[in-house]
Amino acid sequence: MKALAESLLENQKEAADEKNKVEGGWLYLVSTPIGNLADLSERAIKVLSEVDFIAAEDTRNSVKLLHYIGVKKPMVSYFEHNKRQRGEEITARILAGESCALVTDAGTPAISDPGEDIVRLAASLGIPVTAVPGCCAAVDALALSALSTGRFAFEGFLSTAKNERRARLEEIRNEMRTMIFYEAPHKLIGTLEDLYATFGKRRLTLCRELTKKNEEIIYTTTEGAIELYREKQPRGEYVLVLEGLFEASGGRAAPKNEENDALLTLSPQEHVAHYENQGLSRMDAIKKAAKDRSMSKSDFYRLVCAEAEE
Ligand code: SAM
Repeated sequence: MKALAESLLENQKEAADEKNKVEGGWLYLVSTPIGNLADLSERAIKVLSEVDFIAAEDTRNSVKLLHYIGVKKPMVSYFEHNKRQRGEEITARILAGESCALVTDAGTPAISDPGEDIVRLAASLGIPVTAVPGCCAAVDALALSALSTGRFAFEGFLSTAKNERRARLEEIRNEMRTMIFYEAPHKLIGTLEDLYATFGKRRLTLCRELTKKNEEIIYTTTEGAIELYREKQPRGEYVLVLEGLFEASGGRAAPKNEENDALLTLSPQEHVAHYENQGLSRMDAIKKAAKDRSMSKSDFYRLVCAEAEE
């Protein structure tokens, strides 16, 4: 029995060694840590040591990582604003027989960073691409969220333009699956307010500084998160994991309520006006509209006032 187990392990190791050979003409997407250097895999170190050159989102950042593992390599930068031309240069070198590792500032290249474009370009040119998997903040946060992980929707960063951000949230108002958002600390409060305005009170898990010394997983709600950051300044990197409509409605498919859905597309002021036009007093109209949006009356009233001030 022991001999059989050993021979199976030996076979697995041989297969892994075979796959781990670094070959010319390939693009390697190498995942890097999202805050804890010990998360860099053995295979990532091997590939970074053996490729002909490394394309990095920020070479200054990646040099520190290479220094940590004792690797010196020719590097080129590949980032949002040079990705078109640089992508062509990099793929031309790979087509000429060189091997290239792509690393981004943190985590899995191509997930909410410029890696996506070079993978598309390489695929269109017939360049073989392989991944050296590792950290991804979205997946880490989802696993820690204590929310439903069976089905989820990755939303990445919401637009910084207010109207576009709200329009996108409107589109996903009835999303059944757990939703994952990336957010920068200086935009967190605005995003939390928009999430509350769109989804009402929902369970929300805030994952801050994952894998780092100050890692914090906050199990709260859209409403509770706003309360929390009224008192303190958001710091560090965040992933927001929001309960989907399926879980929020007790695991049932939400009943279709077309009339209510139409009301939810109105702005807060229009929503109140709709009930006032039906003869309700302003106070009752606010109460009823807040209920449609699963919000407390005072929070909804604040939204109505904010809209009036815009
Ligand atoms: N490619 C990366 C990945 O695989 O996760 C994501 C890159 S994206 C430009 C950076 C965003 O990821 C941050 O703004 C934050 O929302 C999230 N993020 C990255 N590292 C994180 C960490 N240690 N803790 C929480 N969120 C993190």
